[in-house]
Amino acid sequence: MFDKILIANRGEIALRILRACKEMGIRTVAVHSTIDKDAMHVRLADEAVCIGPASAKASYLNKAAILSAATITGADAIHPGYGFLSENADFAAIVEEHDITFIGPSPAHIRMMGDKITAKQAALSAGLPCVPGSAGSLDTEEAALKAAEEIGYPVLIKATAGGGGKGMKAAHNAQELAHSWRMARSEAGASFGNADVYMEKLLLHPRHIEMQILADNYGAVVHLGERDCSLQRRHQKVLEEAPSAALTPEQRADIGQVACAAIAKLGYRNAGTIEFLYEDGKFYFIEMNTRLQVEHPVTEAITGIDLVREQIRIAAGEKLGYTQKDIKFTGHAMECRINAEDPQTFTPCPGLVTGYHPPGGLGVRVDSGLFAGYRVPPTYDSMVAKLIVHGANREQAIMRLRRAIGEYVIDGIKTTLPLHNRLVHEPDFINGDYDIHWLERFVGHKG
Ligand code: ADP
Repeated sequence: MFDKILIANRGEIALRILRACKEMGIRTVAVHSTIDKDAMHVRLADEAVCIGPASAKASYLNKAAILSAATITGADAIHPGYGFLSENADFAAIVEEHDITFIGPSPAHIRMMGDKITAKQAALSAGLPCVPGSAGSLDTEEAALKAAEEIGYPVLIKATAGGGGKGMKAAHNAQELAHSWRMARSEAGASFGNADVYMEKLLLHPRHIEMQILADNYGAVVHLGERDCSLQRRHQKVLEEAPSAALTPEQRADIGQVACAAIAKLGYRNAGTIEFLYEDGKFYFIEMNTRLQVEHPVTEAITGIDLVREQIRIAAGEKLGYTQKDIKFTGHAMECRINAEDPQTFTPCPGLVTGYHPPGGLGVRVDSGLFAGYRVPPTYDSMVAKLIVHGANREQAIMRLRRAIGEYVIDGIKTTLPLHNRLVHEPDFINGDYDIHWLERFVGHKG
């Protein structure tokens, strides 16, 4: 097992990883930008190294500075968290070249899944059903038109380097297509430095259902069930739950088996998430995330498995030590992503947190770096907390979530808590009756 892990991230996920390390008796190194010097992940780590100025490019994305920090402190592994360098195959490769373990899959698997076209090819070859779409990237307007005619409107143009819902544009007919193709390309170029786009059939009322996978270095693979992440705004998840209200235990077992077989065939190791769209009883692969997901706590709640601990154990060369039949699902869990944003306009609201009181009690978990006196910087992602509840069933989870939201005090900045409060009182949500477009309508009508 490792003696010391460097956590190449910030905010709640840095804290989350730090907590797992502490419970495993592993020493921790925090890295931080100048603006984060007083952040909670820095305060709680055994050691901390400043890796650059506020801009993420100069600090949390600064590979050389992070590697130097790991070398100077003698860390024997790096956990990348999510975002930043977590899906950067070059970083994972450089880390390994320095005889430091990258806590995650191999650079080759990160690379394969990082490009959506090679990811879909790999998924197809491993037996996963995919959304009908173009075979490769669409480099001319003519190629895009031809592909759309073959696939049939409506279509969705997506960035091959995509992430965070950027570079994604729908087209309902040939007139819209040229504009959408150009828009998607320019957004992809600006966001990812790669303007390549591809095309998929636009599914009209799917749910977003993803399977959590764990695989060790010796070919053992299990799934930890699904998460329903259909409540999205601008293709970004807002509230997630496990299990999905839309699946039967048989459907879960079936797709779980298909997902595990694919992972085994690809020779993938460590934690990963296979994302599907689910419509009319059918699953369609959209992408695979080769890292820990923001919404992993809902899976932890219903399985009792500490995903970060498992990632660390696997990276250290330990065997999973359990099989699919040992995994039991208990109750129902939900997670609210709380952003420092105006709950109506969604404009970021960084600033000083003047008062802070998180909820507690049975079945309530808060993952957050917030405290009274903390100043939320304007520089990074606006998510500042995750509120997770676990109940014996979906009804109890909803009642508990309402209760916990009611207790939560974050003064001084605006947050999206009021949006979550409206959401958990909404009949469609209470009935589990929503698809990926539902929240956008809800926000549009009442926001
Ligand atoms: P990103 O990597 O940018 O997050 P994804 O491929 O994971 O992109 O898709 C994000 C979200 O966009 C999905 O959860 C879904 O809501 C929507 N989406 C993606 N592909 C399709 C599609 N073919 N039809 C309808 N919606 C889609």
